Amino acid sequence: MAMMEKNIFLDIVEGKIPAEIVYQDDHCLAFRDISPKAPTHILVIPLKEIRTHADVTEEDCELLGRMQLAAAKIAKQEGLDGYRLIINCEESAGQTVPHLHLHVMGGRDFTWPPG
Ligand code: C5P
Repeated sequence: MAMMEKNIFLDIVEGKIPAEIVYQDDHCLAFRDISPKAPTHILVIPLKEIRTHADVTEEDCELLGRMQLAAAKIAKQEGLDGYRLIINCEESAGQTVPHLHLHVMGGRDFTWPPG
């Protein structure tokens, strides 16, 4: 799948397109994936516009920590006793939306290594 040109996640942040929001704080927003690949599949995104994981800088250290903390809180909130966190960086790794996002997936067993 190719990377979309439009940053649709920014539209979700700005409330222009609907999403089932499950968590938000001053740094990030989390919503249910529209096409879930696990019984629980939530995306944590930074409010700040960052295209890919490779674009983060020193100044994003706290933000990255905040995203991880949000993921842990969401997993607890969703009652997950195990979960997988994934960030796809660039098209070759499967990134399709040009806004950094952390997949929080759970509710089933996962295989290793991922495909
Ligand atoms: O890592 P990747 O960029 O492929 O993940 C993008 C995710 O965003 C996909 O799992 C897709 O289902 C999800 N998505 C969404 N809402 C949209 C468009 C895409 O939840 N409106």
